[in-house]
Amino acid sequence: MRVAWGSVEFFKRLIRFALFVVLPTALVALIAMTVLYVVQVTGMARRIADLEQRVRTYEASQYTSPTGRLVLQRTRALQANAKLTLLLATGPDEDVDPPGDDAPDASPTPVDLPTPTPTPSPTPVPTDVPTPTPDADLTLLPDFRQTYPTFVATEGKVAYLTFDDGPSARTLEILDILDRYDVKACFFVINHTDPKYAEIMREVLRRGNAIGMHTATHNYTKIYASVEAYVKDLASNYQYILKATGVAPTVYRFAGGSTNSAANLFGARIRAEMARRGFRYYDWNSSSGDGNAANVDPVLLAKNVLSTARGKTRVVVLSHDSYNRTGTVAALPAIIEGLRAQGFRIELLTVNVRPVTFTIKGS
Ligand SMILES: [Zn+2]
Repeated sequence: MRVAWGSVEFFKRLIRFALFVVLPTALVALIAMTVLYVVQVTGMARRIADLEQRVRTYEASQYTSPTGRLVLQRTRALQANAKLTLLLATGPDEDVDPPGDDAPDASPTPVDLPTPTPTPSPTPVPTDVPTPTPDADLTLLPDFRQTYPTFVATEGKVAYLTFDDGPSARTLEILDILDRYDVKACFFVINHTDPKYAEIMREVLRRGNAIGMHTATHNYTKIYASVEAYVKDLASNYQYILKATGVAPTVYRFAGGSTNSAANLFGARIRAEMARRGFRYYDWNSSSGDGNAANVDPVLLAKNVLSTARGKTRVVVLSHDSYNRTGTVAALPAIIEGLRAQGFRIELLTVNVRPVTFTIKGS
């Protein structure tokens, strides 16, 4: 039946057509497009995340993927051993530092930060070592581990006292208290120009304590600017300690701790490079809180240590050795007595102590 243009029946059919054909079709199309859009967007997001992950893995593979890091460290250890052999053969005056190890503004007396526990390498090492892939030979792992000292097993509750930023006018006072309690501590020191501090460091060792590296300058922006900048600073700190005491330090503590924001960019690579050289770093899991201000009540400092140590079986205690940290000295007897009352045995932190670190989980 034909319907006349403009008639009532014509408009009725037009509305019916719009309602039952056009509208449902549009709805279905809209839903289909939305689904397609969502699928595409999620797919793209996943792909972007995947690419980002791959870029990150690629950038970090040499240093942070466990296998890649070990292989790289092993390769570099071989190189370092070859360097050491060369150094022994040619004498100490020979500069065997690879050019990349020195920043352009190298000091007139170049310092080398050697691997402290070298093992002579029986195999010749090529000058250009290719970057190993993370899939490289896993049998290198046992050899690599042999170049490191083993950890001493601990029983019961153990606390390790550490003092950062010394030596200072307070060091001898700290030593006297340690002696009174027959306790040893590790001092993570910084460079000082006054020669009297060399004698204080010798006294630290004479009384059976330990010295670790902290930083030469304690200048965050400078030392965390690159891996080279950090190693250069630590090399200066290493030489400072070695020259003053005749003992090469093997442990170190990051200025600000290993995960401080200034070390964000190069922290992982710095840690890998230092591990490659055989140094171990120690963060802390108990603190007196004397780092922020000079005039903190000794009672509060001791309370801070004892409350942060409570419930733990192994604690590394952070305090500071600085001329104006008189509160730390005053708090020390209460800290030692309090830790002992909690059942802790206080032992000396050395390279054979399993590290307490912010970055390695489960330690
Ligand atoms: Zn410090």
